Amino acid sequence: MNLKGKVAIVTGGGTGIGRKICLTLASKGATVIVNYNSGAQFALDLVDEIKSQNGQADCMQADIQSFEESENLIKFAIEKFGRLDILVNNAGIVADALMIRMSEENFDKVINVNLKGTWNCCKHAVKYMMKQRSGKIVNIASVVGIIGNAGQTNYSASKAGIIGVTKSVAREVSKRGINVNAVAPGFIKTKMTESLGEEIIEEYTKNIPIPRLGEPEDVANMVAFLASDLSNYITGQVINVDGGLVMN
Ligand code: NAP
Repeated sequence: MNLKGKVAIVTGGGTGIGRKICLTLASKGATVIVNYNSGAQFALDLVDEIKSQNGQADCMQADIQSFEESENLIKFAIEKFGRLDILVNNAGIVADALMIRMSEENFDKVINVNLKGTWNCCKHAVKYMMKQRSGKIVNIASVVGIIGNAGQTNYSASKAGIIGVTKSVAREVSKRGINVNAVAPGFIKTKMTESLGEEIIEEYTKNIPIPRLGEPEDVANMVAFLASDLSNYITGQVINVDGGLVMN
């Protein structure tokens, strides 16, 4: 898997799964732009870490909910590095509550970051990738976008929406040499799942055929594959990285 000469943007790249995706793409030779919204220090530290391993990286603040800021993020890659080969839409948030208690604000917030943010970045990236006649877009969905989850009507709707965007854009741009796929992680060990507490994690683990939580690395390896030429004949797919939790 060789990503030498490729330029990649990873949204929400400073922490958790995104951080591991940045490190993995950089280790395969890609120049990685670490996007962040509020966590500047995480992104700056990660850029230093990649450079200390002889990789190439930069970072760029952008709130992906904003159409204009997403456009600036994509333009940053083009203006600074002359191209954009890989876009990983990884940034995402949760604001869980049963529907009966969920505020309209928390529904809108999660849809705006997860779904609209992914659409914003795809929209601006595709413009350049179509001219280039090449590109790889990998959207991070979730298994709950496929099977649903109590307490996550906002989040699971956003992730189901991401799957819809993935399949539709794939149909629009595949003739231009652009592959668009989604990765649907199950339960992965990050700050997002830390808050669940040990008891709930143990309960969830009982239903996973490979009986452990996933590591960010498990997701990053699949993203690197989909970002590479090894996946040239794969588009519009949703690949679960979930230890067998959901079998389609
Ligand atoms: P995380 O550590 O909380 O990372 C989320 C990242 O998103 C942060 O770096 C954050 O950056 C960024 N972000 C949030 N709002 C943003 C915005 N408006 N603009 C730009 N960046 C923004 O969570 P994670 O577990 O690594 O999750 C990464 C992705 O995997 C998410 O899409 C999540 O839904 C998905 N996922 C996770 C799991 C899991 O079990 N962990 C399972 C399925 C899917 P700032 O701090 O700078 O805002």
